[in-house]
Formats: sequence, structure tokens, C-alpha cells
Amino acid sequence: MVEKAELHLHVLCSEIGERRVGSEANRKSTFYVESILKEVGWMTEVTQLSVIDWLSDGAMLKCDGRHFEVYSSHYSLGCAVAGELVAIDTVARLEREAIEDKIVLLHGEIASQQIAPKNFPFWNPDEHQYLISLLEKGNPRALVCATERNSAVAGGVYPFPLFEDGDFNIPSVYMKDTEGVNLLSYTGKTVELISKAKRIPETAFNVLARRGKLQGKKRIVITAHIDSKIGTPGAIDNATGVTVLLLLAELLKECNTDYSLELVFFNGEDYYGAPGQITYLKQNEGKMEEIALNINIDGAGYLEGKSCFSPFNLPEDMLDILHEVLWEASNLVEGKPWYQGDHSVFLQQGCPAIAVSSSWFIDNMDNQDITHTSKDNLSIVNYERVVECAQGIVALIEKL
Ligand SMILES: [Zn+2]
Repeated sequence: MVEKAELHLHVLCSEIGERRVGSEANRKSTFYVESILKEVGWMTEVTQLSVIDWLSDGAMLKCDGRHFEVYSSHYSLGCAVAGELVAIDTVARLEREAIEDKIVLLHGEIASQQIAPKNFPFWNPDEHQYLISLLEKGNPRALVCATERNSAVAGGVYPFPLFEDGDFNIPSVYMKDTEGVNLLSYTGKTVELISKAKRIPETAFNVLARRGKLQGKKRIVITAHIDSKIGTPGAIDNATGVTVLLLLAELLKECNTDYSLELVFFNGEDYYGAPGQITYLKQNEGKMEEIALNINIDGAGYLEGKSCFSPFNLPEDMLDILHEVLWEASNLVEGKPWYQGDHSVFLQQGCPAIAVSSSWFIDNMDNQDITHTSKDNLSIVNYERVVECAQGIVALIEKL
């Protein structure tokens, strides 16, 4: 099993690499898991999703002969514009400032938190919607967003794109907060901005595998997202989760359980929309009560610390069984609750869930600098941990 885990992870992270939604690599990864599932003998179902791929050949910001280091905001439209620079640091300021045809530098408080994408269904604070509506009404030529380090919202990415939204049509770039301070003194002057970004309509796929008849039976749905962020091979986030699911396809083949089993490889957890998750909910409209339990794997297999199983709203008998399994497995512990994963999709529908991850990541969520960066590669994976997660899930399902 350890060798198999190593092989799957090598294919996903080294041969395929970055699996951003809409890319050829992303499609290769879904074809790969589908072929493994078929080999093992599961019934598979592949659902096509309409998505966009996004590419940038770089960005340039210039004023008075001085160049500033900027990056195209992921999924933003490109631009080649010039305009007067206006600096905005609070929403109150944005409410009263005229920004039509200007280039707006968003910095400080207003740029402290990544803004939820316009049409993101699972988490979307009113103040984010309001900020977007103010900007759209204001109609500037482009946005320059100066952002600080904020692991809690942007993984380890610094600077982070304030907007990561294929539905928001004001072109934007982002820069380090320190570079933003340099740019501030050019307020009122004409700046030139070029962002060579483009959106490309593409397809991606959800892959489902089933065992047992669905009719009249309660279902256990085991999930992992297969996509990665732009700029990372996504080893811990989430090739290890995909690998656990592939190992489960073998280990659960002969498993003795009354539940029907469903393995779901979601596409879109690290994308501005959640096309795979939304499509799955549509396919299961009126059928979510059939789901007795969701087990979602995201962030598993880190080399430091133990693997953790975090329970959410489990009925008492299920929780007792989980405790028994954790008690018997020396490298698995009960994890704290955390919500930035696909188990939240099930929780919002009233389904009990267990999130499988690495304790170290849950404990350091607010200050680690690995997630969503090139540091999230195979050198930080412990293959035994990956197998232990799969074995823990099998032990749980057999006892349930
Ligand atoms: Zn993830």
C-alpha cells in the first residue's frame, strides 16, 4: 500500500504537477483516477463541468519612469490602461471617492482579507458583496491591490491576490504591501498598467465511483478535491487526499458493510467557483438525507505530527465508534474542528461529517507558509501516514 501511495503521488505531483481547474493537467489527473477506479472494478460516473482556464504572461506597472512589481490577479481579465492613481484604504473612503476611469490602489484595511468571489455559494459575507458592488458602480479602469501576509485566508501565499474571481470584470493586479507603500507617493499621477492575463473557456470533470445499490440504502460518501491552486503541485493539498481515495477503492472493494459507498473526486475546491461541488449538490437534490456520513480528506499525510480525524455533528453511536478506531490506531488522533474544506458542503446540508487531515496543519492554519505555494510538494509527504489514513477509514466503515 505504501508503494502504491508513492506511485499515485508521483503521477499526480511529478508527472502531472499543478492541477488547476481547466488545465490539461487537471483533465489528465481525472482520467488517471478514472482508469484506476475501473481497473479495481468500481462503477464510475464522470460529469463534465464548464469552467475557465486562466493564464498570464506577466504584469507591469509604471509611473514617472519607475517600475513596480505586480502580478496579475488570478482569473482576472487582462488590461493595457493608463489613468490617475487614487489610493483607497477603507470602505468609507471608497464610498465617497470618485473612481471612474481611475486606477485604484487598494491598500491597508480594505485589502486585509481576500474577497469572496461574487458567485461563491458556500461562504460570502455581505461586506464582501458590498465592496464589489461599490467598485463596480465606481467603474475604475483597473485595481492595484497591495496585500500583506495572511496565512489564515491565503494559505502561505504572500502577497495574495485580493480578488481571485472569474466573474468580477474589473481588471486587477496585486503587489506586496511594502511595494504599495512605495506606490502611495505617486497618488494623483498618471500610472500605466499592463496585465497580460486571459480567461479561456475549458472543461473539467468530477469523477464518482460507487459500490452497492443506492436504492433504499444509506450512503457513506468519501470525498477529496483533485484540483490544486495555481503555482503548486498540491501534494498535501490535495494529492494525498486523492491517493487515500484511490487506496480506499482497493481496500473497500471487499469491505463488509451495509452502507452503499461512494467515492467522489471533486473538482473546484481551490477555484473561484465550486463547480464540482455545486454540480454534485444538484445531482443529489432531495437525496442528501440518504447520506449517513461524509468523510472528506484534505491536507493529509504531512511528515510532521499525526493524522487527525475531526468529527462534525456525528450521532453518538458513530462518535463512539470513531473514538474506538482512533484508540486502536497509534498514529491517528481526534482533530479540532476546521471548516475550509468540502466537508462544509455536507455540513451545510445537515449531513454528519469527518474531516481527515494532518494535526500540524490544523494547529498552524493561521501561520504556516506552505499551503498553495511551491513548498507543498512531495518532499513534505510521509507515505506511511497516507496509508494510515486510508486504513483508519476502512476500520471505521467496517465497524459502522
Ligand atoms: Zn484543499
